[in-house]
Formats: sequence, C-alpha cells, structure tokens
Amino acid sequence: MNIGVLGAGQLGRMLALAGYPLANRFTFLDTTGHPSAGIGEVMVDTDRRHLDDFLAKVDLVTYEFEHLPVSLVQAIEEVKPVYPSSEAIRICQNRTEEKALFDRLEIPTPAYRIVESAAALETAARELGCPVVAKSVTEGYDGKGQAVLRDPAGAMEAWRDIGHPQLIVEAFVDFVREVSIIAVRGRDGEVVFYPMAENQHVDGILRYSIAPMPDLDERVQQNAERYIRALLDELDYVGVLALELFQTRDGSLLANEMAPRVHNSGHWTMDGAVTSQFENHLRAIQGLPLGDTSARMPTCMVNVIGKEGDPTALLGIVDAHPHRYDKSARPGRKLAHINLLAPTHDELLDKVRTCAALLPDAPLPRFSFEGGN
Ligand code: AMP
Repeated sequence: MNIGVLGAGQLGRMLALAGYPLANRFTFLDTTGHPSAGIGEVMVDTDRRHLDDFLAKVDLVTYEFEHLPVSLVQAIEEVKPVYPSSEAIRICQNRTEEKALFDRLEIPTPAYRIVESAAALETAARELGCPVVAKSVTEGYDGKGQAVLRDPAGAMEAWRDIGHPQLIVEAFVDFVREVSIIAVRGRDGEVVFYPMAENQHVDGILRYSIAPMPDLDERVQQNAERYIRALLDELDYVGVLALELFQTRDGSLLANEMAPRVHNSGHWTMDGAVTSQFENHLRAIQGLPLGDTSARMPTCMVNVIGKEGDPTALLGIVDAHPHRYDKSARPGRKLAHINLLAPTHDELLDKVRTCAALLPDAPLPRFSFEGGN
C-alpha cells in the first residue's frame, strides 16, 4: 500500500518509520516549500501543479499537518480515500467551529466569547473577568496569534498585536495541569485510547509529556475517553485524534483544542506503549486491527527545541531513546525528542532532570505530582 501524506515534516517522517515494517511506502506532498521528512518520496507542490501525479501514485491519503486548504483536501477526496476526512480538518482549523462542536457534544470548555472588534474584545474581557486569553480564530498554533489580557483596558493593544479580524476570548483557566488524550478509531468504528499524558508547555510550546500519570483518578481518564469518543463518533473519524485539556482542582476537565493527526504529546508511545500512535494511525487508515495502547513503563517525552545536546552524553542515560528529525538548528524549531523510560515515576523524574541539564536552554521540568509520589 502506498500511503500519500499531506505535509512532510517530522510527523510524516515518524509515520513512515512506523509504516515500513507494515510494508507501506510513502509519498509526501509538501505545499510549504520546506519539507523536512527526509524519507520516502517527497513532492514539493506549492502551486498545485503536481497533485495529479501525487494522486496517481498513492492508494489512500492521510495528513500530518492540518493547516491545509480544505478545498485541496475535498478535491483529493473525490479521487482517493482520505483519512481523517476533510470535515475534521475544516473544524480543527477554526477555533469557532471547534468550540461549537465541543458545545454540541456537551464537552466542557473554558467560558468564551467570539469578538470581531477591539471594543467587543474589551466588553468580553469585562464580562468574563480578567485574565482572559484572546486567540485568533484561524492560523494559530504553538501559542502564536494569542495574547493574555490582565485588564480590559489592554484590549486595543491586544487586538492590534494579534491582527486578526475574529478572535476567541477565553476565561483564563487556573488549571492544576495540562493533559491530553490520544485515541484511535478504525474504519470499522472500533476505538482505543492511550493513557492520558501530563504536558508542560513553555511559551505555548510543548516541552515535556509524561504518561501514564502516577496520580490520575480513573474517573478523569474515563471522562476524557467519553469526550474524545463523542468527537470521533460524531465525525465518523478514522485515525489518531488528540484532545488537549485543562485539569482543574476538582478533577474536572475543560477541552482546549484538538488535533486531527498524530500529536507531539503522543510521541512517548514510540518507546513507552505497546503500539505507537504512528503504527496505530497506519493500522486505522488501512482498516487493520488496532494495536494495544497500554503503557510499558512510566515514560517522559522531552522535546529538543532550538539546539541539540551532546548525543553521546544523552545516549549515556539508561533507557533514553533519541528521535532526531534531521533538521538544521534554528531558535524555536523542534529538532528531536528523547523518550525516557523508568520503572517508577521517581526514577523517571531523576532521568528527566539529568536529560534537561544536557539540553541547551531546556526549561526546568515541573510536574503536578512532584514530591507527592
Ligand atoms: P493553545 O494554542 O490554545 O493550545 O494555547 C497554548 C497554551 O496557552 C496552552 O497550552 C496553555 O498553556 C495556554 N492557554 C491557552 N488557553 C488557555 C486558557 N483558557 N487558560 C489558561 N491557559 C491557556
């Protein structure tokens, strides 16, 4: 089976690495002009001149990047099966659509308003109570296109800084931790869930994910599973879906956003779970049985951003597994991640600190359960 992948970054690279043992081949369609997958056949197509060639080569199409023109994905759907569908992309590209879907499925979110002027932003900030987070409705990711307002009087400045005609304004959640759940739905509707991860973001970018969490109440996992299953079934979704949530002091979950693809907070599964999110995505889209999602051991994914550390020293950590993306170093760029495994969370935290100390400019790892286990 030749799998066509829209997008050609590190997520596509890791999909291909998981797919070769399944006898898959990969053709990537890169619409950005900056592919980095470095694997399979990469077709650079910034002006839609090579789409027919791409489609002639592939049996089915998936994507590793959701900021694609919906019309492109819809056009592809006319010719080849696309999993997940263009509908999933359409919703995930637009925070208004995403929030409306969460509301319809009774998935709790932070209180929010949609605004289309600086004056409306100021009113929303007053009604919701500061601090609030203003986010551009489209084209925002990794904390881009966002501003935190500590006072409604900052509305004009935030409006200008973001520079987008429509914003979502959210109440700022006083969360205990940020978490995510990753689930996979097969072509026959079977759904499997990974154990939730705790995620540490710095400046809107994911730095560390730990799964399973040592202190997770089973009911929290079950609630997250209920929410993501509702999304999967509603969208008749096929493949991996990620849902990012805030966990509050009373244990309840508020949905932040979802991603219709393999996700950075699921990279721990490459070494820490029986079946990785990449393999399970490929199984799902090809109609194959889904693999076991259990964790083998407490695992932490450490993102390597901007600069790579000394590989020899990093490999000296027992049960450390680097996954390098073969990209040139640039500030803020995701260059690699390292999966660390340990039999207990205490030992794992020691390894995470050792690893962080070997990475230039890595932030201090902090987890909600530190000291408590
Ligand atoms: P997002 O692009 O929506 O994932 O936001 C990036 C990061 O900003 C999140 O991972 C949080 O750390 C923070 N953030 C976003 N929305 C909120 C919110 N309503 N309350 C508190 N923190 C938030």
